[in-house]
Amino acid sequence: MRQAIMLKPGVIEIREVPALRKVGANEVKLKIKKIGVCGSDIHVYHGKHPFTPYPVVQGHEYSGEVVEVGADVEVVKIGDKATARPQRVCGKCAPCIRGDYNICNELKVEGFQAPGTAQDFFIVPVDRVIKLPDAFTYEQGAMVEPAAVGAHCTTRAGNLQAKNVVVTGAGPIGNLVAQFALARGAAKVLITDISDFRLEKAKACGIEYTANAKTEDLATAAKRVFGETGFEVAFECAGVEIALDAAVQSINKGGKIVAVAVYEDRPRVDMAIVGDRELSLIGTLMYKQEDYQEAVTLIGNGQIKTTPLFTGHFPFEKYLDAYKYIDEQGDKTLKVIIDL
Ligand SMILES: [Zn+2]
Ligand SMILES: [Zn+2]
Repeated sequence: MRQAIMLKPGVIEIREVPALRKVGANEVKLKIKKIGVCGSDIHVYHGKHPFTPYPVVQGHEYSGEVVEVGADVEVVKIGDKATARPQRVCGKCAPCIRGDYNICNELKVEGFQAPGTAQDFFIVPVDRVIKLPDAFTYEQGAMVEPAAVGAHCTTRAGNLQAKNVVVTGAGPIGNLVAQFALARGAAKVLITDISDFRLEKAKACGIEYTANAKTEDLATAAKRVFGETGFEVAFECAGVEIALDAAVQSINKGGKIVAVAVYEDRPRVDMAIVGDRELSLIGTLMYKQEDYQEAVTLIGNGQIKTTPLFTGHFPFEKYLDAYKYIDEQGDKTLKVIIDL
């Protein structure tokens, strides 16, 4: 079968590797159909991902067709569409034992610290497999992973019902987080970015209130959208100090700020304001199985829209070209899909 392996930053080799073994009793073999390229993949491509050794087989946002199932597998059958969580966890550490396996002490993410799915076939343990409805396209299936990030992080700030919410950063994750906030009953959701292209995509996904942070600061935009009521929850999805700081400076007293982004640099936060206004700074990492299930449900019923997010397709052999395209396009691209 074919496999795309990144030998070092910037170099991907498409090579032929031996066919996979037969599945065990609790395993599923997928014929990989679509792989989404994510910001973290690009960090690896640039050699700027702190926790990824080379060579590495990437691919953690994907969908496929079930082609082989173990004797004890019941959730999927041959011919089904499916996706799976890319998390290898120990099951024995304190976070695992209390059910927070997404922050397992031994967590290895496929595509980063363990081989990912950039190959024709992939074997996954059944407890990480999620069946996709027949009506799903394989593109939608590849969006379940980033959507699950939105599902999970929007549970970290408690009940969002009737709350005013700000999302800073309108890339694929920010977009999906904002959609989840709306799906969870937020009163109004304001999304900000410095890219009009991304803000237009947010509107196309049903996020009504947008602001370009280049021309309108967060405090002004929040006043325009929320009036004197202000906002109680913020999801920081831009990964830059200025966005995090703007949220700290302008959120209501007692507000909750969820840091969703991956921060390359260490942002400075005005802890005097955090203290004085009793703000909560909340971390979030990846997702759990139920977040995947919820993402499938809400994509399936149309509450979470993914179609406007697709901005490019590349065949498997042109894996590297997809990365180059993303670099060239900058903020003019959102989700690029590799077709197998
Ligand atoms: Zn990703
Ligand atoms: Zn663990």
